[in-house]
Amino acid sequence: MKPDLKDRLRMDVVNGAKAIFHKGLVDIGEGNVSIRIPEEEELFITPTFSQYETMTEDDVVHLKFDGTQLSKGRRASTEYRLHVAIYKARPKARCVIHTHSPYATMLSVVRKKIPVVLEEMVVFLGGAVNISEFGRAHTYDIGERALKALGTTNAILLANHGVLVCGRTMEHAVKMAELVEKMAMIYWGSFQIGEPVIISEEASRLKEDFDSNFATYGR
Ligand SMILES: [Zn+2]
Repeated sequence: MKPDLKDRLRMDVVNGAKAIFHKGLVDIGEGNVSIRIPEEEELFITPTFSQYETMTEDDVVHLKFDGTQLSKGRRASTEYRLHVAIYKARPKARCVIHTHSPYATMLSVVRKKIPVVLEEMVVFLGGAVNISEFGRAHTYDIGERALKALGTTNAILLANHGVLVCGRTMEHAVKMAELVEKMAMIYWGSFQIGEPVIISEEASRLKEDFDSNFATYGR
């Protein structure tokens, strides 16, 4: 791998991490962001207990899919297994983001999925945001359960934990993490004033847009 590409990928991780922090999707020490290294079974990922405001490329950890750390310095996020599970199963997924954003996490605690209530859920996320079965944090288990819940979409809620999204680019993944939180807030809020109307059928015609521009499932 060319050194300039390596630098660019590390920078992408830092930019993604700072973006989710500034959007309020994670607090200090929570969540993680990664990018796949093309043609290798390796990734760059944020370190454990991320200090988002002061993060630089030097904090980014270089890992093999099997967990072997190739860089010196900070240790990798212990949730790297969740990221690796997605990269292994989905060649089109280049970036993975995990957050503990509050509204989405609130729904994950009551184990409520987010049905399609706005059309953009189909365009960017591929449909409803399902909820995975509970899996112990920091294990491969949680990755398997996440993939099952993901189906053909790009985003899920992890039971009693938070959000997991994947995208073809870092910009896509940040957008998806943000959208899941916004949809969770809107869905929650709609219950305060009435009964949300689900539009999965009406919005299903947009699935083609998703498949050509944002989908990460399939080979
Ligand atoms: Zn977490």
